This record gives sequence, structure tokens and C-alpha cells, in this order.
Amino acid sequence: MCGAGKDDFEPLEEDVIKEKTKSTKLFKCTVCGFIHEGQEAPDACPKCGAKKRKFDELGKEAADKIYASDRTNDIHMEIIALASTI
Ligand SMILES: [Zn+2]
Repeated sequence: MCGAGKDDFEPLEEDVIKEKTKSTKLFKCTVCGFIHEGQEAPDACPKCGAKKRKFDELGKEAADKIYASDRTNDIHMEIIALASTI
């Protein structure tokens, strides 16, 4: 719209998202729905205190959805919505 060519846009966001999905996993607390981001599930849920084994690892597709929604700054809302559909 502003007349800037395609070369004026940096593909930074996509790269960041790819990097994130590659190095981290998402784990969902099956008790309260809390989403943990990291290499592995936390020892205890920071929200409800559930044990590590109560966490389910989310699939790559679900993780991609969450990361794709990151740019909207509504990630927490998106996570809640997504978590309730899993
Ligand atoms: Zn929990």
C-alpha cells in the first residue's frame, strides 16, 4: 500500500517462529489447561500444582497454531481457545 517493494520487508517474523517451534515444545496441563513452553514439562504446574506426568505434550500442529497467533498479542486468549478444543 505504501509502495515499498517486496525487498523492503524482512522475513524476520517467520524465522523467529520457525526457530521457536524447532527448539521448544508445548506442554498442556491436563488438570487446569495451563500451557508450558520449554524443552520438557515442568516438575509441577505453576497454576494448579499438578505433577509433571499430568502434562501432555502438544503436537507440532497445535504448537504451530499457537506460535502463528503469537504476533496478534492475543496469545493467551488463543491458547485458552485452542486448549479447550484439544
Ligand atoms: Zn495445572
